[in-house]
Amino acid sequence: MRILILGGTTEAFALADRLADQHDVVLSLAGRTTAPRASRAATRTGGFGGAEGLSQWLRDHSTDLVVDATHPFAAIISANAEQACRAANVPLLALRRPAWTRQAGDDWTEVADMREAVRALGAIPRRVFLTVGRLELRFFADAPWHHYLVRTIEPIGDALPVPHVTAVQAKGPFDEDAERMLMREHGIETLVTKNSGGAATYGKITAARFMRLPVIVVSPPAKPDVPHVVGVEDAVAWIERHGRASQERGV
Ligand code: NAP
Repeated sequence: MRILILGGTTEAFALADRLADQHDVVLSLAGRTTAPRASRAATRTGGFGGAEGLSQWLRDHSTDLVVDATHPFAAIISANAEQACRAANVPLLALRRPAWTRQAGDDWTEVADMREAVRALGAIPRRVFLTVGRLELRFFADAPWHHYLVRTIEPIGDALPVPHVTAVQAKGPFDEDAERMLMREHGIETLVTKNSGGAATYGKITAARFMRLPVIVVSPPAKPDVPHVVGVEDAVAWIERHGRASQERGV
């Protein structure tokens, strides 16, 4: 089968590697990361030009199946994928990471978006560990009185023009011990994070729990209601079942 995987996540790379031997797989990346990891599948980089561009791409490349394995916070591409697959009559499977849930000992304030996260930090200056990604930093310029420890994969440039910023560049996974050490070293009082789910960045959550630190947790946006699975192996099984069913129907 010709399969397009919409990626940008650990799971997308894992799925592409897993399927590359048996199928004609293209892994699509938005191009936000300058040095993405290598894949055993063919990769393409950059936007498609909205839902229409994606649906044209699917037709031009005779695509049999699309897997939306994008990040829980990548809402636009998921909506485009649903629309494009419907228009091009191509089946769509979503690989969705379950969100983290509050555990005993967690001191969470759950908010709907970044603006609410900024408000939740309050008027008293705090030492804040900000792990929301480079593109969301600009919202925190509305609260320039806090001290921000910012961790991103790419350099932040002038994305957060406030007086007190310490920028750390690093790519996960991050384990709990290292997260505790980092937060202690910087005297962190509050963590701000997206609820991204998954294991790779969960260490900051367990570290904050251990250190009894408050966490502002931004909830993920809604994604389209399409067939979905939660793990890479579930996705492989779904795809093989789908392939067999299509063969039997002679499609
Ligand atoms: P988004 O807001 O949903 O999408 C914005 C635009 O970027 C889309 O309209 C599309 O452009 C392009 N795009 C997004 N994902 C693409 C992909 N896999 N292949 C080709 N084009 C893509 O996405 P985002 O939140 O900026 O995330 C961008 C990428 O980074 C995604 O692949 C996502 O999985 C990954 N990522 C996001 C986050 C996050 O917190 N948002 C975290 C880690 C990784 P066109 O309309 O021109 O097609």
